[in-house]
Amino acid sequence: MTMTTQDKQLVCTACGSEFPFSGEEQEFYTSKGFQDPKKCKPCRDAAKQGRGGGGGGGRGYGGQRQMYPATCSACGIQTQVPFQPNGSKPVYCRDCYQSSY
Ligand SMILES: [Zn+2]
Ligand SMILES: [Zn+2]
Repeated sequence: MTMTTQDKQLVCTACGSEFPFSGEEQEFYTSKGFQDPKKCKPCRDAAKQGRGGGGGGGRGYGGQRQMYPATCSACGIQTQVPFQPNGSKPVYCRDCYQSSY
């Protein structure tokens, strides 16, 4: 038997808590050429699961305004308007609004 790798405590860079890095794991990591894990297991698992949020960059999908359902005062169809209809003003669908000019 050669010298056994001893367990060591590492500090998670994400949550700051100490977590054990067992000798077995250390040997596994070394054999794969990995560096010591930076995060505890719960944090690593969370990172694996929550992969959707990444990306960054790629803007340009802005401009989604809140729309309110309304009934056109002119033709009576259901439409959506970018403001809350309060009933005191007539609401027009796009077609009627444009043809009113
Ligand atoms: Zn953690
Ligand atoms: Zn209309």
